[in-house]
Amino acid sequence: MLAGPPPSFNTNPPSQSMQQQSQPTSQMYPNQFAPPTLPPNFSGNQQLPPPVPPPNFPGNQHPPPTQPPNFQGNQQPPPIAPPNFPNMQHQQQPPVQQFQSQPNYPTGNQQLPPTQFSSQPPMPGNQQQFQNHPSMMPNGMNQPPMTQGYPNQGSVPPPNQMRPAPTMPNQFGPPPTMPTPQYQQQSQPPPSFPNQPAPNMGGMPQYPPGQPPYNAPPSSYPPGNLPPSGTPGYPQQPLQSQYPNQPNLSGPQSMPGSQMNGPNTYPGQTSSGPVQQPYQPQRIDPDMVPNVVQVLEQSQEKIQQPFITNAPGLLPPLAATNFVCQDQGSCNPRFIRSTTYTIPNAHDMIKQSHIPIALAISPLASLRSDELEPPVTNFGEIGPVRCHRCKAYMCSFMQFIDGGKRFLCCFCEAATDVPTEYFNHLDHSGRRMDWYQRPELCLGSYEIVATKQYCKDEKWPEPPAFIFMIDVSYNSVRSGLVEYICHILKTELLNYLPKDKDAETSNIRVGFATFDKQIHFYNIKNTLGQPQMMIVSDLEDIFVPLLDGFLCLPHESRGVINSLLEQIPQTFANTQETETILAPVIQSGIQALKGANCTGKIYVFSTTLPIAVAPGKLSNRDDKKLLGTDKEKVLLAPINNVYTKLGEECAQNGCAVDLFVFPNNYLDIATIGEVCRVSGGQIYKFNYFSIENDGERLLDDLKRNFQRSTAFDALMRVRTSSGIRPIDFLGNFYMTNATEMIFGTIDSDKSVSVELKHDDKLAVESNTYIQAALLYTSISGQRRLRILTLALTVTSSYTSLYPACDLDTIMNYITKVALRSITVSTPKSIRDNIITQAANMLACYRKNCAQATTAGQLILPETLKLLPVYVTSLIKCDALTGTQTVTTDDRSLLMQRLMSMDIKGTFAYLYPRVYALHDLEEDKLPPPHVRCLYERFSEVGAYVIENGFVMYIWLGSQVDPSFVQSLFGIQNTAHIQPEKCRIVDLDNPISRNVRTLLNVIRNERNAYMKLFIVQQRDSIEPFFKNYLVEDKGFTGGASYVDFLYHLHREIRNLLQ
Ligand SMILES: [Zn+2]
Repeated sequence: MLAGPPPSFNTNPPSQSMQQQSQPTSQMYPNQFAPPTLPPNFSGNQQLPPPVPPPNFPGNQHPPPTQPPNFQGNQQPPPIAPPNFPNMQHQQQPPVQQFQSQPNYPTGNQQLPPTQFSSQPPMPGNQQQFQNHPSMMPNGMNQPPMTQGYPNQGSVPPPNQMRPAPTMPNQFGPPPTMPTPQYQQQSQPPPSFPNQPAPNMGGMPQYPPGQPPYNAPPSSYPPGNLPPSGTPGYPQQPLQSQYPNQPNLSGPQSMPGSQMNGPNTYPGQTSSGPVQQPYQPQRIDPDMVPNVVQVLEQSQEKIQQPFITNAPGLLPPLAATNFVCQDQGSCNPRFIRSTTYTIPNAHDMIKQSHIPIALAISPLASLRSDELEPPVTNFGEIGPVRCHRCKAYMCSFMQFIDGGKRFLCCFCEAATDVPTEYFNHLDHSGRRMDWYQRPELCLGSYEIVATKQYCKDEKWPEPPAFIFMIDVSYNSVRSGLVEYICHILKTELLNYLPKDKDAETSNIRVGFATFDKQIHFYNIKNTLGQPQMMIVSDLEDIFVPLLDGFLCLPHESRGVINSLLEQIPQTFANTQETETILAPVIQSGIQALKGANCTGKIYVFSTTLPIAVAPGKLSNRDDKKLLGTDKEKVLLAPINNVYTKLGEECAQNGCAVDLFVFPNNYLDIATIGEVCRVSGGQIYKFNYFSIENDGERLLDDLKRNFQRSTAFDALMRVRTSSGIRPIDFLGNFYMTNATEMIFGTIDSDKSVSVELKHDDKLAVESNTYIQAALLYTSISGQRRLRILTLALTVTSSYTSLYPACDLDTIMNYITKVALRSITVSTPKSIRDNIITQAANMLACYRKNCAQATTAGQLILPETLKLLPVYVTSLIKCDALTGTQTVTTDDRSLLMQRLMSMDIKGTFAYLYPRVYALHDLEEDKLPPPHVRCLYERFSEVGAYVIENGFVMYIWLGSQVDPSFVQSLFGIQNTAHIQPEKCRIVDLDNPISRNVRTLLNVIRNERNAYMKLFIVQQRDSIEPFFKNYLVEDKGFTGGASYVDFLYHLHREIRNLLQ
């Protein structure tokens, strides 16, 4: 409970409404939604739930060996005495030290608007530049070509020297001092995987057999991949003169072992980044450029109090920081974030600034345990109170007039009569007397129990049902999958079925079917002694042979269900059937739910491409060499609309399909994944499934899938103030008109993006309001509405616009727009568009907000100073440009996952988290982040890196053997197998601390990421390095510092 006005997060003078709302709320509202007590110190993930066994992700898996490994043998040697490890000699260089040792930066820009954290005293010394003012690159970065080297020069050349020069060589002085470059290794053959099976099979990146692109002559661009005409910097560059003798091509960012990351790019990726830049810029100290780790740390330090949403336009803390939100009128940013909290008043500003105006909405986002879940209200017979004109729902920004008899809509300004039942008197300030008793009047998020008119056919819904459909063909049986799924369903999963918070037991009904070329339904009615099987072989016109007895409550039919789950593996143990169907299986699931008049989920466990003769039959059309070329879109788009149509049918019937696939080969996820994408479901992929390697992950994924908040038969609509409206929607859902998103299901891990467009000029002194309304059926079968409202301010000034930007949301949106273009555009134009947009965003800032600065400086607005590093990462990421690094199916999977990903998820994907493991301390978990730079990895150290999809543990070549013993329980690093090594439960501090840290990571990501162990300089290290996004990419793609040069040139060109 709050006592007295809560502290304000923002130092701006509160608006009138803010002052009103910041009055004590809890006394009058004692138990219903008193804001939780908030700990003053919320650093260090203390709020995390207890560790849970590791989660993980399907993509990027190693091709496993053909023989099931003797897993136990490797993993569980007897525990070894804990080594004496603590004080390893290696230390990470604290970034700040190097940063401070740099010469003075150009000053200026003091006039720039303060940021969200402007009340903080400026940091002493040079840090100030990156903190309270727009960021500027160190002198060298800011200069156009000049003959003197940069960082230590301090002096700024006269303006006439600052124009871009046609040639770049020597611009940045002598070559960098580097650890001994290992260029000679460039000629070495690509690493090969042990036991690598047939190509294209694993999710784990594979080298192409011939590895052509790496050593292609630089001057011969593949057809259609000429340098972009829109990037004038490139063509004039003396490419050829630099390439022939190549020794220094990998430039300043190369490092021992990074010889794979040569400057040449693969087809399709030639022209977007400064990859081909032949010049050898002087090495720039990475500490001189804005970096994610430092920004996050500084942001976190400044978060001393809860973020209170008591005024329009408050910029929330960075998505990746640890903060508590108190809803006092606008909803928690975990539900809705905006690309900017001050909306431009006219479209022209958006056109000039290229800042997208978009919302990222996660209507069921998980909140912290000390934050307020949206309270459920019930208006009884009258139903939700809404504006009679625009149908917006009651919210804290509606204004009551006429003594409380009418209210003015904040969206359309219409006046609506207050229903008699809802009437209440106003106090002296014009506010309703029951303001703090009603969540809809004082909170930005609340739920309403819906009336019958919000239900299909005006009938109360049934509780949802789960249908499990298990592939029992040869592959599935042989891999042990059938037996394992039946086992975990029986012993674990049926006990994890979701229920409402207060309910004792789940009222989810379950049904079971198996399939190969036919579908087998099972009657599990509790009156039967044994389950009964019924076979459907007419696949053209699917019907479900039994309605009564197919869907049952587990606690009523448990005996029959257990007996069924024991019999299924035995029944199909000797099957020789290798062909399977898929579309009819899903179709029958929809029919079963329809027949039972309920919503639900269809869990399909499938191992092969559906090649059996039936609707939805597919064939292998994989052609991996198309990836990265202009023709890749064909491969990454569905071959037909059969599965898309099925998805639409699911969405319209309030159900979704979750596909668990266990392929040993191509599955055409681009096609079959459509059913998940459109219905709001999800794909989980386990390459070369084996219980030893993947069993734990499968179980964990299913548990999380069951337990996360899920809404069924959902429909979401976004309303906005007059003058602006939603025009574009991105995510995994179905739309039948221009305004409503339909979800078979939507869960707490899913997010949608909504772009807004101006219809008219907005009044600068006004606010703009956003309201997302989600109508859904809850897990217990209650029809509800969740109403989320957000207030933004309006501006006509760029100096107000830029400080109100939320880069996390901007990148989430840009990523989704780029991914959507993959199936209609070309890789080159997608990357060019991203770079052009970023350059325009920064050029507009330069032009309108930083005119006084010297022409040669790269000036970054405070809120967008990490834009270049995120763009660097995005344009070379696997999802966008994966070519040799991912299979076709994994690429499709990544694309689909990212399309529904929330902001925290895209952030982690664009900038993976790295922690040092060799010096963990029990009371300091998680430890500080490490930057995604190979040079920050000590060869005597060990590190974990994760991006929400995959996790690697990297062991330095000189790592203390006792550390390896303590962690893996094996004597010798030579015994480490990348995919099969596990962190075993050993009773020593190293093992305990690492396991705790991994659990913290997995819980934050809501995924049991697959773990690989990499040793320095081993054959799979290049794949791991691909995640070090500040370095050069694995198959091309610029380093962060190189990209800054390129971006700077683009900006200068735009400004000329
Ligand atoms: Zn209205």
